[in-house]
Amino acid sequence: MRVLIVEDEPTLARQLKAALEGAGYAVDHAADGEDGHYLGSTEAYDAVILDLGLPEVDGLTVLDRWRKEGRTTPVLLLTARDSWSDKVAGLDAGADDYLAKPFQTEELIARLRALIRRSTGNASSELTAGDVRLDTRSGRVTLAGDPVKLTAQEFKLLSYMMHNKGKMVSRTELIEHIYDQDFDRDSNTIEVFITRIRKKLGPDIISTTRGLGYSLADGA
Ligand code: CA
Repeated sequence: MRVLIVEDEPTLARQLKAALEGAGYAVDHAADGEDGHYLGSTEAYDAVILDLGLPEVDGLTVLDRWRKEGRTTPVLLLTARDSWSDKVAGLDAGADDYLAKPFQTEELIARLRALIRRSTGNASSELTAGDVRLDTRSGRVTLAGDPVKLTAQEFKLLSYMMHNKGKMVSRTELIEHIYDQDFDRDSNTIEVFITRIRKKLGPDIISTTRGLGYSLADGA
């Protein structure tokens, strides 16, 4: 899953990026509203964390533009403490959730998880496919109850597939959702990750449809 942070406070942005990467997300950062709007309009994100007070273009305008362009990416707004009018304006402009500053990083990550879960139609924080379980809270993956160790990239790929169970996912889509902007993207590595995941979780976990992409075997 890939997330965009639009935040102009360098320290907070850096901390958030590190925390989200640690939680298994691919993360991009924009430091002003103009860059944020551009990235959100041209790149594929599973969720956006958007600060309201931003240089160039304010967060509310950015959100309003995205929604008018028809972008439905879930947006979590960062608002000033006690400003109920900001929260109302944000929700009315199409925000999916908000969090007042200062906040605990754990709460932000939990809200983000919930947003992504809802937007992909998953009710539970535990995703399953046959004997495979992925706990989105702990980032743990098990096969028939036994823990399975995945690399960061394998986890990102599996997590995207499990959030989108039942959908055909193209290689391009996978690349867009598991790498951040600065990553040197090589589409051949996707096949390598799929092979490794099959080795760890069973050959039937992901099936390939030539020319179309990959889908997760439900198994149950
Ligand atoms: Ca700000």
